[in-house]
Amino acid sequence: MNLLDLIFPKRCVNCGKSGEYVCSNCFTFISFDVKKLCLVCDKPTYNSLTHPRCINRYSIDGCFSAISYNKIAQKLIYSFKYKPYLSDLKTFLSELFIESIIQNEDFVNLVEKSEFIFIPIPLSSSKLRKRGYNQSEILSTALSKKFKIPAQNLLVRTKDTQNQFKLKRKERELNIKGAFELDARSLKLDARNIFLVDDVVTTGATLKEAANVLKRAGAKQVFGLTLARD
Ligand SMILES: [Zn+2]
Ligand SMILES: [Zn+2]
Repeated sequence: MNLLDLIFPKRCVNCGKSGEYVCSNCFTFISFDVKKLCLVCDKPTYNSLTHPRCINRYSIDGCFSAISYNKIAQKLIYSFKYKPYLSDLKTFLSELFIESIIQNEDFVNLVEKSEFIFIPIPLSSSKLRKRGYNQSEILSTALSKKFKIPAQNLLVRTKDTQNQFKLKRKERELNIKGAFELDARSLKLDARNIFLVDDVVTTGATLKEAANVLKRAGAKQVFGLTLARD
């Protein structure tokens, strides 16, 4: 046990019971029944992939998520982002992410068939300074270790965008437009397959914009990979 655990003992984020971040009772509220929607047209898809009819040259190829963004997931992700002193929460969420996604056959098939890299969705430098860490990078590093797939910070956020949560679908797309650039140090992305790692996907505006930038730089396939799906 480390010092932070003594100062901030583990409590269930949902009911406050001490012992774990999610007690056994509240764990049953975590839902692995994730909506499978095409990020381009927002209509159902059976395999988490973008419909063939919706794909164009620069669109995202699909999106896989581990849990549903219900009340308890919202509380967990909020704590993950804003309560860094909950020292083991990142391990708990990374394990939850891995345990769920490893059971998604479509995801596993992709990983086994082609070579991929993980790229976390970056924060703006001001937000990163304020928070001290990028939660998507933490998830991306954990996935990288588990799946033995390299994780690289190849995207930078060049625009300090408004919080997407307050915005409607169309506004989100405008807000995030032009927010990402490829890291100047990165090599050409020729024929690389990429999983864009993020904590939550809602309308997919952020993932679609990042995928667009990566595909214009020569990436082959680009998929979203998120802990939660709204
Ligand atoms: Zn509880
Ligand atoms: Zn579609």
